[in-house]
Parts: sequence; structure tokens; C-alpha cells
Amino acid sequence: MLGDRNVRVIYDERVLAHRPEAREPFLPGRLDSRVRGVLEGLGLEAKWSYPEHPGRITAIADLLRAEPVPGVRLTKGRVAKLDQLARVHTLSYIEGLYELRGKQAWLDVDTTAVSAGSVEAAEVAAGSAVAAVDAVFNGKAHSAFALCRPPGHHANAVRARGFCLFNNVAVAAAHAQAKWGVERVLIIDWDAHHGNGTQDIFAADPSVLFFDTHRAAPFYPGTGAMEEVGEGLGEGTTINVPLPEEAGDLAMIHAFEHILVPAAAWFQPELILVSAGMDAHRTELCLNLSFDGYSALAGIVQRLADEHCQGRLAMMLEGGYNPETLARCTRRVLEVMAGGEPANPREPGMDAVEEIEAFHRDAFAAPD
Ligand SMILES: [Zn+2]
Repeated sequence: MLGDRNVRVIYDERVLAHRPEAREPFLPGRLDSRVRGVLEGLGLEAKWSYPEHPGRITAIADLLRAEPVPGVRLTKGRVAKLDQLARVHTLSYIEGLYELRGKQAWLDVDTTAVSAGSVEAAEVAAGSAVAAVDAVFNGKAHSAFALCRPPGHHANAVRARGFCLFNNVAVAAAHAQAKWGVERVLIIDWDAHHGNGTQDIFAADPSVLFFDTHRAAPFYPGTGAMEEVGEGLGEGTTINVPLPEEAGDLAMIHAFEHILVPAAAWFQPELILVSAGMDAHRTELCLNLSFDGYSALAGIVQRLADEHCQGRLAMMLEGGYNPETLARCTRRVLEVMAGGEPANPREPGMDAVEEIEAFHRDAFAAPD
């Protein structure tokens, strides 16, 4: 029943200080002029603003305060330490980012930038992911959801990409293994974009099973083909499900039930982490999921956590750029984590058609 389970939502206002401004000059100058050239070509420069904005996170917190979910409690995050980050990123990458404290810089032409407060925000995002894992293992909650920002799944060991600085879910998985002795972690990435960074980090690691549904290439970031199944010792522990734009609730649920469920039974995870991107919702124009679809996916994931790992489940926010949809999707997922009944979506429009069918049913019956 809704409210039967305690869920920690990790929300820390320090993540709001990440706010690159196009009006300010960026380092390095060469990349700045290149990016401005791209923006000018698109006719966007005058009105361009950083798409991964603080209003995303405040929208979620505001909705959870206005419409609380029984069993869900908000708590503060913390700063990830160097040794926690260094489990999945190189020292030279981390130290390079540290040197950007207080500065404004472009890290990638795909509009990944930092502002004065970004490095601390990224440390808190990764630290919130760590706090979510700790909450699940120290018995404070049945499950946890970290409102990470910047997101993480496009960042790999050596590179920031796609709005991502530190790979939060990877930091969380490595922390669970190092601190809590977890041997096998299942990472599920339902963001509309492929989690290329997470895949890279664990490609050769058989202790992490990575399952990713996403819109197929050439959609950003262009990776995640079905044939990418891991490398070396990790061959077989990467599963990609690239989908066409029109794929919606039923296709996603099918992928989860018929690919993820048997894979999880084979792998026997001790912890499930989710890269919970809400940009597969149809309002984001990437894939075609509904609110009910998100609720149903959360239901499958919760069921797997209950079956295989005593309910141990922690989610990290990834994408989702329409604040209203993002907040609503997150709330629907939290309802299921807190013990609510997941939705059972049907083909869109079927409810309406059946009502209309009933309305017309007697009209064409043969006269008595
Ligand atoms: Zn995304």
C-alpha cells in the first residue's frame, strides 16, 4: 500500500549553483568562439540559455512539498570525496575539474559547460548518489532517489559530455562495492539517451550488469547499438535496447519484461541502481512514454529489487527538461517506490474507444 515503504529523496540546494550563462565569456577562448559560431549558425545565440537548468530540480521539490507522497522524506545530500570519485574517474580528469572552481568554461562542444558554482554542484550530485546508496544499506530507508544535478550518465572516466560532469550512478555503484561489499550491481538506464559514459566505465567489468533502453542512433550520443554487449571479462554484462522514436509504454514494458527480467534472474544482483531520466516522456519528443508508462517501469524495477536484493533500490536523476513533466514523472515513480500500485498502461486511446463503442453499441442492433 502507498506509504508502506520509506523512501529517501536526496535534495541538496547546492546543486542549484550550477548555472552556465551564455552572456559570460567561457574558457578556453578557442572553444568559446567555436561554440558561439555553432549557436550563431542555429540562430540561437541571442536567446540561448543552458537547457539543463536549476528549475528542473526545484520543480520536483516544489511538487513533492505541494503534493507529498506518503512514506517519502526529503533529506540533504553531501559532497563526494576525491577517493569516491576516483573509483570511476581518472585523477587527471578530477583534478582538471577542480581547477575550474569559480570559473566559467566549456568542457565539450555538445554544450557541456561549467559556471562558478558547478564543480561543487557536481560534487554534491555525486555525493547525493552515494548518500542514496548509504540510506538503503544503513537501514534508514527501503529505497532512495537522488535528485542529482548535473546529471551523470554521459560522463566517462576521462571526459565530461552531454551536461554531465561526474558519472553519479557509476560513483554510486563503485561505492556500494567498496563500502558495502556488494558483489553484483544491476544498473538500469531508462533515460531517452544512451548512457554511454556508464557503459564505457563498466564495459569490461563483469560485476556490473548495465541495461539501457534509449532512442537509437543517430540520436545523441550515437552509441548503444544492440551489438554492444561489453568487452573482455565484461562481455555479456552490457545490454542495449535501441528504440525508434515512436516507441511508447508497451514497447518499453516489453523490453523490461522480456529482456531485463530474465537478465536479472541470470545475474542475481545484490543492489539495483537506476539512471532515472524522465526525458523518455512524450512531451520531450525523444520517445513516447506516458506518466503511466513510468509508473509501470518503476513497478517492474521494484519487483526485481524485491525478488533479488531484499528491495535494495536507489535511483539517480538523469535527464528531463520540461520541469512540469519531469516533476510529475518523478512523483509517479516515487509513489511506486513508496508501495503504491504501479499503473498498467494500455495502447493510447483504447479507454476512449471503448467508451465510445459502448455509446454506439445499441444503435445498430436489429429492430425487435
Ligand atoms: Zn537524456
